[in-house]
Amino acid sequence: MMNSNGSSGNYLSELRREMVESQIIARGVKDPRVIKAILEVPRHAFVPPEYIDQAYNDYPLPIGAGQTISQPYMVAVMTELLEVQDDNKVLEIGTGSGYQTAILAKLAKEVYTVERIPELSQRAQRILRKLGITNVHFKVGDGSEGWPEHAPYDRIIVTAAAPDIPEPLEEQLKGGGIIVIPIGDIGGQILVKGIKKNGKILKEELFPCAFVPLRGKYGFN
Ligand code: SAM
Repeated sequence: MMNSNGSSGNYLSELRREMVESQIIARGVKDPRVIKAILEVPRHAFVPPEYIDQAYNDYPLPIGAGQTISQPYMVAVMTELLEVQDDNKVLEIGTGSGYQTAILAKLAKEVYTVERIPELSQRAQRILRKLGITNVHFKVGDGSEGWPEHAPYDRIIVTAAAPDIPEPLEEQLKGGGIIVIPIGDIGGQILVKGIKKNGKILKEELFPCAFVPLRGKYGFN
């Protein structure tokens, strides 16, 4: 049977490989670094024990506190759009389970991740520690305000739905930097990729998506 530390490793790695082929590569994700990172990170370690059997399925899953671990394809596509380089400093808003965080940690030099719900941040910290991932810095607080102490960031990813790009995130992104964020209403959003040029963010609207809301000062109240 499966367990959360991956000791039934072969079966779970096989499910992971199938997930990458049928849900991620088949839908057009190409970046070999992103594919490698997803193959390396045991998604089953990030879901509650009762969902381990579904960890490699094509949908989001509950992680407690009314929040979700995002659909694997959405994690892959957002990561590919972010074009993370290995010397990058990345800011992630919405740590959630820590799964997306772990993927970013494989690709970047340092990851700064902010979560508003303390128990989720603590849970994610425990999982990443267990996996031996050490280049992640955690904060509990309102991520709609970013994490100014470590700015500027080469890349910013927001894994919750926002009414628009929060002003502090715009300020904390480096010139030439990239932000990926779902923008819209609570009921539905468009995934947006922004590139900062001459102090302004040029936005490209990509495709419809549905995320839990970003709460806080620059999110939905
Ligand atoms: N990427 C995560 C994963 O792979 O598990 C999923 C993130 S979940 C869809 C969105 C997260 O954003 C939730 O954990 C939620 O608590 C968090 N969140 C919402 N508003 C926030 C805010 N203002 N600051 C920080 N985190 C926030």
